[in-house]
Amino acid sequence: MNKMNYAYCSECEDLVEFVEKEEWIEEEYKGQMVRFQFKVGRCPECGEEVATDLDYITRRTEAKMEAYKKQNGIILEREIKEILEKYNIGKENLSEIAGFGKVTIKRYFAGYIPSKEYSDILYKILDDEEFFIEMMEENRHKINEKAIQKVSDRLKELKEIKDSKTQQVVNYIITNMEEVTPLGLQKLLAFSQGVNYALNKTRLLSDQCQAWQHGYVYPSVYGQYKSFRYGPIDNGISSMHGCMLSKVTTEEIKAIDLVIKTFGLYSPKTLELISHKQRPWKEKRNGYLSTQPGNEIVDEESLKDYFIENHLNTEENILSYIMKEIRK
Ligand SMILES: [Zn+2]
Repeated sequence: MNKMNYAYCSECEDLVEFVEKEEWIEEEYKGQMVRFQFKVGRCPECGEEVATDLDYITRRTEAKMEAYKKQNGIILEREIKEILEKYNIGKENLSEIAGFGKVTIKRYFAGYIPSKEYSDILYKILDDEEFFIEMMEENRHKINEKAIQKVSDRLKELKEIKDSKTQQVVNYIITNMEEVTPLGLQKLLAFSQGVNYALNKTRLLSDQCQAWQHGYVYPSVYGQYKSFRYGPIDNGISSMHGCMLSKVTTEEIKAIDLVIKTFGLYSPKTLELISHKQRPWKEKRNGYLSTQPGNEIVDEESLKDYFIENHLNTEENILSYIMKEIRK
């Protein structure tokens, strides 16, 4: 049976089978004209807007507020969340560190709109770890030891990410994949390296890649995630600002995104299978039994040539390549 979508139309004073469509809405908000896109429900009889479900008004208001914030350069809720995640702190502690009233950040999550001045401070914290550290030192006395410890541990992690392009790429993959295991991560790193050659002709990671029994492995990353075994890696830091991608170019991000959208759809075992069909891995496994460990260094030129000659630089090409390889 088809699901019927009924809503109450206040014009017709009746339940009507509504229609939904993305529309641009222009409305006044806080004395300003705000323009935003929203999936509007309408009565097919009279054209009046109808609430299609219980959250309709809330969603509509949120879309309007977000548009207002964007128009005025005010930090968005999700960007404040990113700060909390990046520095591993709670709302009250962020308020204290930023020099706001204790409950200010909590209020922003309850619908209050930050002033431009406070918003600029928050943006600076999001983008600039040094600024955050200065602010934290200044307001240290307002925060308990346990929270200080948590933030300090996180700052050490951020420092490692800041100093290493590989760590930036790894964290990007982990936080942009729905789920990734250590085995899957290793394959996605090698495929990112390959796709980046095919797309940008340059070397993404300077780390050495080896041909292990279960496919490509970057030993420099292997030890770090070993403890997750066959489970998903869940210690990524979901932020793209400041130091998080400081060493990675926009073009390189495109290559990694391509890998996530294509190879990233497959299970770690399938990715292993694909790697086992690739020449750069196979040529370093000559003379090894399939059950035998090995750690020969993968030839970068060979990896580069392989991805370039297979044209693995568009979503379409990569997806059809994968289909072909797993059917072989
Ligand atoms: Zn109507």
